[in-house]
Amino acid sequence: PDTVRLLSSSQVITSVANVVKELMENSLDAGASGIDVKLENYGLDRIEVRDNGHGIKAADTPVMAMRHFTSKICSHEDLERLETYGFRGEALGSICAVAEVAVTTKTEEDEISTQYTLNFTGEIVSQKPSHLGQGTTVSVLKLFRNLPVRRQYYSSTKKCKEELKKVQDLLMAYAIIKPELRLMLVHNKIFLDGFFPKPGADYSSTSSSSPDKTFIFINNRPVHHKDIMKLLRQHYTAQYPDDQGRNRYPNLMLKITVTPSSVDVNLTPDKTQVLLHNKVSIDPSAEKELSCGPSTKEG
Ligand code: ADP
Ligand code: MG
Repeated sequence: PDTVRLLSSSQVITSVANVVKELMENSLDAGASGIDVKLENYGLDRIEVRDNGHGIKAADTPVMAMRHFTSKICSHEDLERLETYGFRGEALGSICAVAEVAVTTKTEEDEISTQYTLNFTGEIVSQKPSHLGQGTTVSVLKLFRNLPVRRQYYSSTKKCKEELKKVQDLLMAYAIIKPELRLMLVHNKIFLDGFFPKPGADYSSTSSSSPDKTFIFINNRPVHHKDIMKLLRQHYTAQYPDDQGRNRYPNLMLKITVTPSSVDVNLTPDKTQVLLHNKVSIDPSAEKELSCGPSTKEG
């Protein structure tokens, strides 16, 4: 039975990005307005998704990672008016079969949060009080440790970087479709904080955009950065291919925070041209944080 469970779980849970997607969707289903995603070693050592959603009721915790348990469907009619991302009750249980999982959760009624450690079959093996606020944090350690071939796939840095890119794209996609959602991705010590309006939204210029509508800040300093600008334009063009170039210069604001030593601001006297050291790019030994989400007034 363990082999069967492992095999079927490995079909549900196929990659780091896939784990992040399932966990984020659970957070969205829980009504979260903020989600923080943290990865260590491209997610292979640790994936942590924290939300401020409604949490998991104490009565549901023993079964939360049981196969086919879902709190989202009670009847056939529910299935027909499905408004949640999840309904199969497969993700959490499957993740337990391919990684070490801990879930910390607190509902509005709970006085404090509780951390549950789950085993291979999704049963709670231990629990302890914890200090987190309302919402749920799922930690996934040592993904695919029991699937050596899949683990092997991630032995190349190239593959890892591709996977990280997928996670970034995933967050970007949610940031764009849910402008009110606060999202953060951490993999290294770069913090990206942005406001990315959808084209045609009220706060977006109705005529064609111009470069001066794209605001980039590095450590709170307004800067010009061709490469970042190019990346943002590419991203918008990919997201909105029908927009006929209207967003060649998207109206947006991006705030990047790096350790002071990794940025050189003295390229020009007005300090608007900056040099970001290479380490800033995705690097296994470096950490990166990306957050995209709404800012209330920028735009
Ligand atoms: P599904 O999303 O299809 O219901 P999952 O295996 O992804 O199945 O999750 C199982 C159950 O665990 C969910 O139905 C929900 O009750 C609970 N759950 C999981 N993650 C969260 C979360 N972040 N916030 C609140 N409840 C959660
Ligand atoms: Mg789910």
